[in-house]
Amino acid sequence: MLLQAENIVKTFPKKNSGLFKKESLIAVNHVSLEIKADTTIGLVGESGSGKSTLGEVLGDLQKPSSGVIYYKGRDIRQLKGADYQAFRRNVQFIFQNPQGSMNPYYKIKQVLLEPLKALSEHYDEAEALVKVEQMMEDVGLDASYLDRYPSELSGGQSQRVAIGRALLLNPEIIICDECVSALDVSVQAQILNLLKRMQKLYHTSYLFISHDIATVKYMSDEVIVMFRGDVVEHGTTAEVLDDPKNDYTKKLL
Ligand code: ADP
Ligand code: MG
Repeated sequence: MLLQAENIVKTFPKKNSGLFKKESLIAVNHVSLEIKADTTIGLVGESGSGKSTLGEVLGDLQKPSSGVIYYKGRDIRQLKGADYQAFRRNVQFIFQNPQGSMNPYYKIKQVLLEPLKALSEHYDEAEALVKVEQMMEDVGLDASYLDRYPSELSGGQSQRVAIGRALLLNPEIIICDECVSALDVSVQAQILNLLKRMQKLYHTSYLFISHDIATVKYMSDEVIVMFRGDVVEHGTTAEVLDDPKNDYTKKLL
């Protein structure tokens, strides 16, 4: 098992809850799940159901209020130094707005080299550049984009860079949070197909987070449905999405 979440709870203090009566909002409510190698798990649910929070807790961008995340059987809180770095390298993210995670003063070349520099065990600039150029080809971008700034790229082109940047680290898992939601429909299809093609090449697992059931169905081997912080359905894509008795997924259609 690559990544395992056990009984994760994440609460936030409720706004306007008063000075003395501290109420909290339960964003993620006792959720357990497992991410295996070379699998895509779709995480679907209406807006505010806790998908992004769960994804960020899984990748240690947020700490859970309670519960444990295990990376290859080890509690991630116990991972130090090179072990934590391996976790960081192996669990990558792609977000809705790729430019938000790129330094606007970096050219694309630096955007792609930076994580390699920070997270590789042995970094060699010349070797890294060869990898970067190959990756540009893999994600369907002309090498001339390496000398451009993020703001000079379209949404789809930036998402290709973000996918390439994640894949350059040869991660075991990529958490894709609404990674096509901001793109035009025709570009969405291109990016989804790129992700699929890359999975065949690199055997990366995806946690594919989306409010859109059609894209989740297209992408996923397994589907998890969240509703107000709870996991309400979990099974193979066919079990969850083709079951006429499934009330929660009907609501999302
Ligand atoms: P989703 O990704 O499914 O749309 P989120 O995980 O973003 O849902 O949010 C789940 C719930 O937690 C929502 O009610 C949201 O308002 C709340 N929430 C998320 N992040 C924070 C935060 N940093 N502070 C307070 N409330 C938050
Ligand atoms: Mg979200």
